[in-house]
Amino acid sequence: MKLLLLDGDGIGPEISYVTRKVLEALGERFNLGIELSQQEVGLSALKKFNTTLPDKLLQQANDADGIILGPLDTAAYPPADQGGVNVSAVLRKHFDLFANIRPAKSKRGINALAPAMDLVLVRENTEGFYADRTMFSGSGEFMPTSDLALSIRKISRDGSYRIGKAAAAIAAGRPNRKLTIVTKSNALKVSDGLFLEACTKGAAESPNVELEEIHVDAMASLLVRTPNAFDVVVTTNMFGDILSNLANELSGGLGLGGSLNAGSDRAIAQASHGSAPDIEGEDIGNPVALILSTAMLLDWLGEKKSLKVFKEAALLTHNAVDSMLLDRRTRTSDLGGDLGTKAFGEKLVKVIKEA
Ligand code: NAD
Repeated sequence: MKLLLLDGDGIGPEISYVTRKVLEALGERFNLGIELSQQEVGLSALKKFNTTLPDKLLQQANDADGIILGPLDTAAYPPADQGGVNVSAVLRKHFDLFANIRPAKSKRGINALAPAMDLVLVRENTEGFYADRTMFSGSGEFMPTSDLALSIRKISRDGSYRIGKAAAAIAAGRPNRKLTIVTKSNALKVSDGLFLEACTKGAAESPNVELEEIHVDAMASLLVRTPNAFDVVVTTNMFGDILSNLANELSGGLGLGGSLNAGSDRAIAQASHGSAPDIEGEDIGNPVALILSTAMLLDWLGEKKSLKVFKEAALLTHNAVDSMLLDRRTRTSDLGGDLGTKAFGEKLVKVIKEA
């Protein structure tokens, strides 16, 4: 199995290093036969190759069965014509990774604001308000005059249908079998009206799933007020980005937010959080989100390629992380713990090897 690891920016290299060590330990323990390759992307690639996305990257990505992508400091990139290309957006578009799956599950032992939250947020990943993916050519943001800026938001029937179908399929495999569709269909009657209609139609392909619709502003309140009331939540791209951070924070913290970008035949593991430039190089970034994202990728590969050992490796990773988080002394400092990024990784590798 060929995997491509891209470190990314900020704390990316630190958490990617730990993730690689965990993958190597899992590979040995389960005989996974993983061939792991690496490629520089982001700000370090910009210095070397004058672009954040080196020429050979897409070929390497095509050759890989799955990709692990560290966070990218896109806010610090120069404009695209000066080499600042958003690698994550390009890969999502290239492989049509339409579903961004972001679980928010509270962990035992962690003093979370929502200690019993267990939901999966499914975010449409190819449309919405993101200027670099809404257009065939040109940008979805533009300025007709120096005092007027406009953004285009794209909602398609097919895109809304397939995300509804994918989210309901996830809900169908969970005990509560409930799907909440989040829109702003009261204000955006045309675009979110279309999303609601087509998403509901897609979801109806899983007939045993209970459906409800909630407006996004109400949802922000309800996630705080009744966090345990939700099972699977599906929404458009930007609402999903924002609500998933809220859910992550409520369930324990951004450093725990694993996330998978999935299409029909490719997936990319990518933590929900950003590159955390404020703590870069300090060995305090929490690698759990990227490790759990990688576990999601292993599980996805196991399912797609009918490889039971990959699913077992994913489960062991989740259990090993849970056991580490139970004890304050084996957590990173964002969770009140004592361990640095590297030391957390070394301990986790030990737990995996001894399990
Ligand atoms: P951020 O998620 O990087 O950081 C927000 C806060 O959370 C910071 O205080 C940071 O130190 C902390 N934090 C985040 N991840 C952490 C971790 N694993 N362990 C401990 N603390 C953690 O958000 P931001 O500061 O708004 O964005 C920084 C850069 O990341 C920007 O360029 C932004 O565009 C980019 N970004 C990238 C992605 C991605 O690549 N998936 C996602 C979001 C933001």
